[in-house]
Amino acid sequence: MYLYNSATHKKEELKTHTPNHVEMYTCGPTVYHFAHIGNLRSYIMEDVLEKYLRFAGYSVNRVMNITDVGHLTSDADEGEDKMLKGAKREHKSVMEIAQFYTDAFFADCKKLNIKRPDIVQPATGLIDDYIKIITKLLDTGYAYLAGGNVYFDTSKLARYYIFNDHNEEDLAVGVREGVEEDTNKKNRNDFVLWFTKSKFEDQALKWDSPWGVGYPGWHIECSGISMKFNGEYLDLHCGGVDNAFPHHTNEIAQSESYLGHAWCPHWCHVAHLNTSDGKMSKSKGEFLTVSLLEEKGYDPLVYRFFCLQSHYRKSLVFTWENLDNAALAYNKLLTKIANLKSEGEVDEAVRAEYRAKFSKEMDNDLNTAMGVTVLYDVLKAKTGDATKLAVIADLDMVLSLDLIAKAAALRERNAAAVQSAGAFTVIAEDGVADEAIESLIRRRAEAKKAKNFAEADRIRDELKAQGIEVTDIPNGAKWKRV
Ligand SMILES: [Zn+2]
Repeated sequence: MYLYNSATHKKEELKTHTPNHVEMYTCGPTVYHFAHIGNLRSYIMEDVLEKYLRFAGYSVNRVMNITDVGHLTSDADEGEDKMLKGAKREHKSVMEIAQFYTDAFFADCKKLNIKRPDIVQPATGLIDDYIKIITKLLDTGYAYLAGGNVYFDTSKLARYYIFNDHNEEDLAVGVREGVEEDTNKKNRNDFVLWFTKSKFEDQALKWDSPWGVGYPGWHIECSGISMKFNGEYLDLHCGGVDNAFPHHTNEIAQSESYLGHAWCPHWCHVAHLNTSDGKMSKSKGEFLTVSLLEEKGYDPLVYRFFCLQSHYRKSLVFTWENLDNAALAYNKLLTKIANLKSEGEVDEAVRAEYRAKFSKEMDNDLNTAMGVTVLYDVLKAKTGDATKLAVIADLDMVLSLDLIAKAAALRERNAAAVQSAGAFTVIAEDGVADEAIESLIRRRAEAKKAKNFAEADRIRDELKAQGIEVTDIPNGAKWKRV
């Protein structure tokens, strides 16, 4: 598979340390608020990537962190503590906030058919591992103590600006206007590995360490968690493009300094989702969440379909109109699939041909938009419906759009609608129903349908004798007492 590598700035074949096996790490959410659909775009695309790797025959070990400590509002260790901010906002403890928004995150993932990674590790669960890494970094001179905190010394590295899509100005976080400069830092891009002297006196989560009671910086958790569960050689690291700098840059700096060898050769970054007013999380003041989509009547999988229709490296513009178009296309696709009959033999040669077509698109830097068009191609193919359904089911193992199940549900709904349209309705004009009379009216209708006109006439006379007048209406009859 060829996948764009942010570390080398070109499309490259994914090469793994162990043949046919991928050690994959994806940065997880900071659980202080609901995830917005812009965040979730990254998780959808990473999910497709993982599933495609499995489809292509790799075994995958996918690890993800949950940030429940140490992430400040500026990714460069400035500003407020995000978890503390969430706890204050909702008058809850940091742990309560972490649990609530972790559950909310996975509930959203489930609705979007995002598989849970093989290993999910909250940052607070691995403190001893971070202490071990930081201790070695101090011993080997890559880190220093200043003002009570432990910092990584970026001047000790031969290469730091690995994702050079960022310019000097963006890198100059310490001198950005309005952001207080940390005077403990020797170099402006140095970052905190361990906080003890913090401006957050009310920081709830603290642990003992050789440098005093405190808590880890944000970046160290991903290195620690990945090295623990992926081992020393990571094959593929993913995240949103906003993670590239400084978070991923810092992960590389500390991991390679600690290990003494190259750590992860392949880096994959998902571009932003933007609204027409240029914001990632809000549209006209509304915070864009999966729940909001549901409140507005959208199936969350329509959003997944919308994301798959564009390339993960291009920023995607979200508007309600764009989502409506995706909903329309998704429902049309389901209708086409619902019209297929499942009888007949599967032509395995044709099935393999379409799987290969799909793989060709996905092998080309995860081109999901072209992967989706293979669904339309197979629907138009000159082959039996059973083969088409088999191909669709195969591709949907990766796309995860619930195509077969939702098409079956649509078929059932349509059949029920036809049946209820075909049912014979009997209406009492005065609103007072009478079971005996209505039963006679139904029997008369059945007799007419069976072309037993003598019986139909007999029943009409019987009703007339009881003073009942019957008038035929479409799909039924109405009656009144005269
Ligand atoms: Zn991370």
